[in-house]
Amino acid sequence: MTMESLRGLGTQGVASNHRAVDAIESPAPSAPFVLQEGRHAKPPVPATALRHRELQEGRFWQAIPAYRDIDEATFLDYRWQGRNSITRIDTLLTAISGLAPPEFIADAEAGFAHSPMSVRVSPYLLSLIDWRNPYADPLRRQFIPIASQLMPDHPELVLDSLHEQEDAPVPGLTHRYPDKALFLTLDTCPVYCRFCTRSYAVGQDTGMVDKVQINADSARWEQAFTYIASRPELEDIVLSGGDVYNLPAKHIRHLGERLLQLPNIKRLRYATKGPAVMPQKLLTDHEWVQALVDVVKLGRKLRKDVMLHTHFNHPAEITWITREGLGRLVEEGVFIRNQSVLQRGVNDDVDTMRLLCKRLGHVGVHPYYVYIHDLVRGVEDLRTTLRKGIDIEKAVRGATAGFNSPVFVVDTLGGGGKRDAHSYDYYDEETGIAVFSSPNVDPDRQFFFFDPIASLTPEVQARWADPQERERMKADAASKAMLFKGKR
Ligand SMILES: *Cc1c(COP(=O)(O)O)cnc(C)c1O
Ligand code: SF4
Repeated sequence: MTMESLRGLGTQGVASNHRAVDAIESPAPSAPFVLQEGRHAKPPVPATALRHRELQEGRFWQAIPAYRDIDEATFLDYRWQGRNSITRIDTLLTAISGLAPPEFIADAEAGFAHSPMSVRVSPYLLSLIDWRNPYADPLRRQFIPIASQLMPDHPELVLDSLHEQEDAPVPGLTHRYPDKALFLTLDTCPVYCRFCTRSYAVGQDTGMVDKVQINADSARWEQAFTYIASRPELEDIVLSGGDVYNLPAKHIRHLGERLLQLPNIKRLRYATKGPAVMPQKLLTDHEWVQALVDVVKLGRKLRKDVMLHTHFNHPAEITWITREGLGRLVEEGVFIRNQSVLQRGVNDDVDTMRLLCKRLGHVGVHPYYVYIHDLVRGVEDLRTTLRKGIDIEKAVRGATAGFNSPVFVVDTLGGGGKRDAHSYDYYDEETGIAVFSSPNVDPDRQFFFFDPIASLTPEVQARWADPQERERMKADAASKAMLFKGKR
């Protein structure tokens, strides 16, 4: 890290900047509030109701022996984070040996041997995991597979279960909905998540899946631009991957400018998990941030929306570094939304989800979607039932602003697209089969979603193990869905 790039941003810079903001926001002390007689007052809130404002502060990473001597300027350097990200299981296990219980280390080693995804964990993520209790830790669960918790995949699972490739007129451009398309610009990420829906393309070849090629390749991008220009109905492009955090600043700019120049394009979103796993980049990669801010400004000039979509799953992923990093974008007028995935043992309880939504709001992010976990290889232990999602959604609504209350959605199998979790035509909780219709994708087809097998009774699990019985259960659900359609 050159001190240049940190000028005004080191410990002193960030802290004093924050104090300055506080000074602007704190009003002068006023007379205490006195309730008029006969008026009703809400009882005072317990301190726990304000937990969303309590972010991890200070040099928390120094609790990890490997980072004990890492000062703040170094830890905030995104290049240091990138260079020190762990991509080999033996390096990871060395970093946590002495911290995590020995049986856990062996369990993780065996877990990685069975994982279809690449490994990549940033020092930031590593230092947010409670290694004394790694089995229960919500971040560990998302990034580090362990053999003893692996479950058999769902029998209906296929690679690319959402048909993203089937609906792609150009490699990496999925045009499923009438006016919007998903553009996979590259196939790498700042970290690799166990539960990635795009394990068909993202990450290194692990030998367990043949990955599709969607490199950051300008010839492929040109094909995508040509296709987008040829479809007047397309107004909205999601720039994803992989993860746009891994695109150099000049590519962020190029993609933004090329797309905004197209008269039909009105909305752009850059999708990245980056702020959740390496917020340092927002503080120290000035060029990248400037490229994004410039595209947002260009959009405003052209009266078009340019937004950032992030992917936080747990309130512990939001620290003071996140607040300062995202704060920079908020100051520049970048609008930020969040998409989470509902995961068992991570965020599948009402308190955690409420806290996540309120904490996101606290750092200037608008919760947008919570996805019911897709069928993905090797992560059946992370999936929840559809019912769970519907119940949590109900309990979260009303906890904060309506525009900060996420919609819980299912990305239905076979390319039906996203549907509100509760909008099924039929849902049999006993067999775990839900049937949806999707009028804007294909009004004549039915689309399925399946609860995890382990959530079903032993009798029903036995029925699922029999292929003929399985087809019967699906046909039964499909015919009931026809009957109930429009009557719920
Ligand atoms: C999610 C998604 C979009 C964007 O959908 P929104 O509901 O507008 O967020 C576009 N195309 C595909 C293929 C998608 O999966
Ligand atoms: S960052 Fe996104 S695309 Fe990359 S591995 Fe994680 S979920 Fe998949």
